[in-house]
Amino acid sequence: MTKQIIFAITLLLTLGAFAYTVNRIVSFFRFTRPAFPVKNFGKRFGVMMNVAFGQTKIFRKPVIGFFHALVFWGFCIIIFGSLEMLIDGLTGTERVLKALGPVYNIIMASGDIFALLVAVSIIIFLARRIFFHIKRFEGIEMNKMTHIDANIALSIILILMISLLTMNIGYVKYNSQIGEATVGLFPVSSLIAGFITEGQAESFSLMYQASWWCHILLIFLFANLLPYSKHFHVFMSVPNVFLSRLDPLGKLPNMDSITREVKLMLDPNAAFAAQPSDAPVERFGVKDAEDASWKNYFDSLSCTQCGRCTSVCPANITGKKLSPRKIMMDLRARMKEKGPLMVKNGRDFSDNRSLLRDFISEEEIWACTTCNACAKECPININHPTLIVDIRRYLVMEEASAPGEIKAMFNNIENNGAPWQYSAEDRLNWAKELDINMK
Ligand code: SF4
Ligand code: SF4
Repeated sequence: MTKQIIFAITLLLTLGAFAYTVNRIVSFFRFTRPAFPVKNFGKRFGVMMNVAFGQTKIFRKPVIGFFHALVFWGFCIIIFGSLEMLIDGLTGTERVLKALGPVYNIIMASGDIFALLVAVSIIIFLARRIFFHIKRFEGIEMNKMTHIDANIALSIILILMISLLTMNIGYVKYNSQIGEATVGLFPVSSLIAGFITEGQAESFSLMYQASWWCHILLIFLFANLLPYSKHFHVFMSVPNVFLSRLDPLGKLPNMDSITREVKLMLDPNAAFAAQPSDAPVERFGVKDAEDASWKNYFDSLSCTQCGRCTSVCPANITGKKLSPRKIMMDLRARMKEKGPLMVKNGRDFSDNRSLLRDFISEEEIWACTTCNACAKECPININHPTLIVDIRRYLVMEEASAPGEIKAMFNNIENNGAPWQYSAEDRLNWAKELDINMK
């Protein structure tokens, strides 16, 4: 009973802290703008199964992608064991899911094998980060804290897997010492247990109990650290893929307010029919975090900082300042900075800083070719160009600010109806000396 009470208190504290953090993050979403209506659930489910659970985009880098997929699939299996631990801890039962019979054996055996595979994968990830110079993990946005954050999260996962294995080994050994049958199958732990020839039943019982507590307490700690870490993607990536933008990558979203204006210009009669309820536009494009859409912000929270987007960005590769990963990290950082201030003082609060310029420079924004390579490569379907283009829209439409070449093009479109500096009447001059009937 004492164990149950301690467990219940610990779980309550964990849930309380987690609920506080989630509520804080959710409260920032109410400052964001609409993106697209979430429909086509069948298609979304297919994308989620393919990209998130199938890990298909991760496999574009086959070797390291394979290890990442092992970690993801391992988490999906091991979570059943964690759920059982929660129920056992609260109710005082022992391996409550054993009622599933043969299915239980499969789940436990898979979890035991995956614990080893995940541990090996994490050691490889840590070794890559600590001992090898991986270009993808470098960049102006990748400071010392981002590396420490990643290493701490990986180390916690490693300890989680080790404690899971030692828990299983202790359980297997304890049962064999007292002559009891083991509930569930533990192929890896049984194999390792076979090499342990010394030890009393009490020692193995203690090993089992200590590992059990270590494992569950680390899960509680990890769950509360994740929202502050790049590893928040553990929670966010699957829903982010489900909420993917389903339009073709090259199709930029129109601005409703501008579309309406253009339609009114084309059909002046419609101007008189326009509903007075049409809300005034607060801002064209994106200047600060609250101008971004909820999907942009969701993307920023889901970003794993893997750098796959930046590694294929032609602007970045050719030495420009732009890094699509940084764009996502900047939006998250800016919302983390301004979100609490807006919660306290309202959406219109200004701290005289903004996403544009204090975090993302104009130089970065104009370096983008809108090629969409970043969005195509991102393993969790984050879409960077929509945000980049919206920041440009703010610059052009509210500040009339754009590089000289683009301004010249705007003038030409306005004056000549084409991006070139020739008048519309001269368009067919090139064909004058050709023997073509122009009528
Ligand atoms: S945006 Fe996508 S590809 Fe880029 S760092 Fe984040 S998760 Fe990786
Ligand atoms: S769309 Fe822009 S940010 Fe993305 S890869 Fe192309 S140039 Fe880079």
